[in-house]
Amino acid sequence: MLKKTGVPTSGQVEAVKPSPERLAEGPVVIVECFQEIPCDPCYTACKRGGFLPFEDINDLPRMDFAKCNGCGICIGACPGLAVFVVDETYAEDKALLMIPWEFLPVPEEGSIVKGLNREGDVLADVEVKKVRSAGSHNQTSILTLIVPKKYAHDIRSIRVD
Ligand code: SF4
Ligand code: SF4
Repeated sequence: MLKKTGVPTSGQVEAVKPSPERLAEGPVVIVECFQEIPCDPCYTACKRGGFLPFEDINDLPRMDFAKCNGCGICIGACPGLAVFVVDETYAEDKALLMIPWEFLPVPEEGSIVKGLNREGDVLADVEVKKVRSAGSHNQTSILTLIVPKKYAHDIRSIRVD
């Protein structure tokens, strides 16, 4: 399915999700990287040991969620747009979701955009809480979205109308 559509299976998504206990502690990275390719900038970007050392450059990332503070630096380092941060502790029925964004326009802070699932379907209106640059030599933006908590693990992109 992934190779034909670019959409991972629910089993693949579940396999990389942090435990409910870790999610309940605060912001944490989720790495939806499912293809073995020679790539590791996520690992070198994290200075906290959130990514375990790669034994081979083609390995899929393996995480130590206890070391991750949800800073989001690794989001901008990933050329595959495969890294996200979820904070389920934001509010009773809302979560914060950090996603990479490489399209134009870059949405404005405070604007309302469409939250899309992995297939590109609209799930909900979401607010753009924060927009930050991934770095002076990196065109990627990192968006922090306020999303319905029930969609925190389903929304993975946005549409700016
Ligand atoms: S979010 Fe920050 S602490 Fe967590 S894995 Fe990424 S770079 Fe490391
Ligand atoms: S940088 Fe992104 S695509 Fe490359 S290994 Fe890490 S998560 Fe996968």
